[in-house]
Amino acid sequence: MLLEVSGLSVDYVLDRADVRAVDNVSFTLDRGEFLGIVGESGCGKSTLLFAIAQLLAPPARISAGSVAFKGSNLVGLTDRQLSSVRWRDMSVVMQSAMNALNPVKSIGAQFRDAMRAHGKTSRDEIATRSAEVLRMVGIDQAHLRSYPHQLSGGMRQRAMIAMALLFTPDLVIMDEPTSALDVVAQRSLMVQIKELQATLGFAIVFVTHDMSLVSHFSDRLMVMYAGQVAELGATRRVFDEPLHPYTRGLLEAFPSIRGPRVPLKGIPGSPPDLSVIPTGCRFHLRCPVVYEPCAEVAPELADKEGTLVRCLRYTEERSVPDDHATAAGRTPEQAFQDRRGAVQADPARRRRRELPDRGA
Ligand code: ADP
Ligand code: MG
Repeated sequence: MLLEVSGLSVDYVLDRADVRAVDNVSFTLDRGEFLGIVGESGCGKSTLLFAIAQLLAPPARISAGSVAFKGSNLVGLTDRQLSSVRWRDMSVVMQSAMNALNPVKSIGAQFRDAMRAHGKTSRDEIATRSAEVLRMVGIDQAHLRSYPHQLSGGMRQRAMIAMALLFTPDLVIMDEPTSALDVVAQRSLMVQIKELQATLGFAIVFVTHDMSLVSHFSDRLMVMYAGQVAELGATRRVFDEPLHPYTRGLLEAFPSIRGPRVPLKGIPGSPPDLSVIPTGCRFHLRCPVVYEPCAEVAPELADKEGTLVRCLRYTEERSVPDDHATAAGRTPEQAFQDRRGAVQADPARRRRRELPDRGA
């Protein structure tokens, strides 16, 4: 096993109150495996990646859990201790290469700095390796002399990926590396990432808000909702047979690349503000198949034939009603409006919602 994240929680320590952006997340990753992490904006994906790479800065702090990478826990290590791991064994590709690359240094100079910082001093070795990784991502080595602004968006992202590969890492963490690109450039970059992975054998944790992007590339998929794991399982299984109502909503929110054209439904309402977490199931206010206990009982992760899912429908002993939103002929949006009306009309429920409840 390459990576084992256990019970990881991250808080943003703010004046008003702490905001828990990652709540008790656990998963493992094998060598060479590709894990996709999906969820709407604000659900804690970047915070989770930064916590794994130990790149969080105040006001964020890891409040619980461990990140075991190749057998040793990275949480609590000093920057000095971490520097032997970061870049060499584990590297990170950020959301925007324009922010991550230094605008006033050539690509080659940035590769050189990275290699020198990790003990490579031979000019020849640095030049050879820099040209090599740039070629790997399909960029002519002449661009080692280029500045970031002289490259297209796609080339900048490729240069970032090349930089992440300088030391042949075991794990590459990618935070929406294709989100600034058009659809065609996105696809070709994904194919290239997958080819590099097949050749070099590194494992990938890949964050995106677009589920269809990872559908053909990831081995397993983690769906995050409001800082928690909502569903985690084999990608094929999650796509063919999504268990969590939120996962189903996400699948309906993106156009299928193949398959028939169907109107996009999307998910009614907006993701919760993490400073005011709903009681019970965090998704219940937006859920098309909500039933009576959901507003009260916070579901645990349940194991359903190897797929983990956080939904009372899979854990409650009580009989579960059918999907009454559709049974009553209501669209998910109408059902959402019905429930919102019911919550607003019931002062007790309204009060409960306003009180942040972190559970135990
Ligand atoms: P994602 O990458 O899924 O869009 P983030 O990890 O960036 O989500 O953010 C998750 C949540 O963490 C946000 O909804 C916000 O509540 C909180 N958060 C993120 N960055 C900060 C910050 N610098 N200060 C305070 N809270 C933050
Ligand atoms: Mg993010």
